[in-house]
Amino acid sequence: MLYPDSWYDPNVESLLVHARRNECLKKEALHFKSVSLNARQLCDLEMLLNRAYYPLDGYMCRTDYDSVLKACRLSDGSLWPLPICLGVDAETASGVSLGERVAIRDAEGFMLAVLTVEDVWKADLEAERIALWGDRPRTGGIDVSGIEGDRLWYLGGKLEGLSYPQHYDFVDMRLSPPDMQRLFSREKWGKVIGVQAGRPLHRADRAMLEEIASAHDARLLLSPLMIPSVYFSVDHFCLVRCLRAFAGLMPEHAVKLNLIPWFQRRMGRRGSLLRAIVNRNYGCSHMLLWDSGKMQSQNLQHSESFHAHMEWMAEMARLSGITPLREKCMTLDEASGKHTCSAKGCLCVNDHLAIVECLRAGEAVPDNLSYPEVLKELGRVHKPLSKQGFSLFFTGLSGAGKSTLAKILYVKLLELNGRPVTLLDGDIVRTNLSSELNFSKEHRELNVTRIGFVASEIVKNGGIAICAPIAPYPKSREEVRKMIEQYGGFIEIHVNTPLSVCEQRDCKGIYAKARAGIIKGMTGVDDPYAEPENPELRINTSEMTPDEAAREVMFFLATKNYIRGNA
Ligand code: ADP
Repeated sequence: MLYPDSWYDPNVESLLVHARRNECLKKEALHFKSVSLNARQLCDLEMLLNRAYYPLDGYMCRTDYDSVLKACRLSDGSLWPLPICLGVDAETASGVSLGERVAIRDAEGFMLAVLTVEDVWKADLEAERIALWGDRPRTGGIDVSGIEGDRLWYLGGKLEGLSYPQHYDFVDMRLSPPDMQRLFSREKWGKVIGVQAGRPLHRADRAMLEEIASAHDARLLLSPLMIPSVYFSVDHFCLVRCLRAFAGLMPEHAVKLNLIPWFQRRMGRRGSLLRAIVNRNYGCSHMLLWDSGKMQSQNLQHSESFHAHMEWMAEMARLSGITPLREKCMTLDEASGKHTCSAKGCLCVNDHLAIVECLRAGEAVPDNLSYPEVLKELGRVHKPLSKQGFSLFFTGLSGAGKSTLAKILYVKLLELNGRPVTLLDGDIVRTNLSSELNFSKEHRELNVTRIGFVASEIVKNGGIAICAPIAPYPKSREEVRKMIEQYGGFIEIHVNTPLSVCEQRDCKGIYAKARAGIIKGMTGVDDPYAEPENPELRINTSEMTPDEAAREVMFFLATKNYIRGNA
């Protein structure tokens, strides 16, 4: 049984093996089976290897799994809220024997650790659900492998680490728990409050954090709350840069910024307790529990009241050696421009939402809400529509007028000279990007999603992508919409010129060939065109000139604020 005083051995080291053992394992691993980890599993592995999950020294075995689910304790009696096991599918599990060593790799196949398998068992999803949610109407297990429940098995056993998962970003801000502990003792930081932030912080947050820190005579360890799937997205970089700017505004000895490979588990009170233990292992004496906002509501809305959660956490504090502190509400005193804690005030997240709204509307953010240093970073991601990338996605029958309109708009948008413009016309794409594809349903879908991928990259980087494929099927159109909308605007324009008009135009002579049976699978003739149900615009080019049709699109862009002027 571990007690608060002996929670962390200051001499604890990572699970990375010595260089000679490393070489040896690499050679032996030639014959090992491999398990590749997803982004969330990589976080867990890193937390095991760097001892953020101390006292665990590998993936849990069945006895610990059962004991943790039932009693929130490891089988030796120490407090532990959630099983940390290696989730694998049934086939992998059945191919592994006890005592066998397995290579743990990242998605690229780089070997990070060797697991000596001590236990293999099928996940007990019902026991997991009860442990997490009791009789509350919520489903969801504990595993992060993404493997479906009835195919999910676990491997447990000791780990020998060869390398941490590779990070190339913010490498100077990735101290391990032992490094952090040493730094705190070197700099004589007594009490430390762990603050995991899932959003940028502003003036109200600073006032609140300073108030809490001074009330407890503590400093702050600030870390962004990671969302593994967005490690490569601008949001991750924006959040870290904003927090770095924020921390840079505070006195150096008051706050440290460190990236913890911790992601939000949405696993109620047991998830919070695991976060408490991780904070403690990084050397914190206290941790901040955000009262509301995205993080809080997602975590607890279906489970229990915040008050009950706090009470439970307070009890756990006694056992885990860390004290949870509740976020305070803040009010802004307009006269002095200062924020103070007050029962009738608002949660800081409201300021953040107001700031994002201002930035998106292209309005100036009031000085008393945030800092220019933070806004400079945040403003790179939250831009008004007139500064964001967008895609014009024309869809319709052959001969409907898509290419003609796309070319006119390409020129008109270049003339405005606001953002880089790329034309991904159906024929251009078929020649350059999808030359090996035919016109089968499968290949047509693939062609459209390829266009969508290229367009989404352009939009992500703030450009305008004009696409003009036939795109006859809803599935790939919806996929493209999803891909692009995460980065900017998606304007689907159904060019709904009637088939009879398209056929009459027959610019390329293909309708005549299709009617004569020379070509097969012609959209509108012997292959279907499923009309989009809710496009942003519909344009029937049989009723207007190309120039008029293009003006209609420009008018739409101007009224929706995608472009300024020259409507
Ligand atoms: P798609 O790219 O949809 O296959 P195209 O743009 O290649 O169609 O061909 C459409 C034909 O229709 C062109 O010859 C174009 O000049 C003619 N057309 C007539 N009126 C219009 C209009 N209002 N908008 C676009 N094209 C039009």
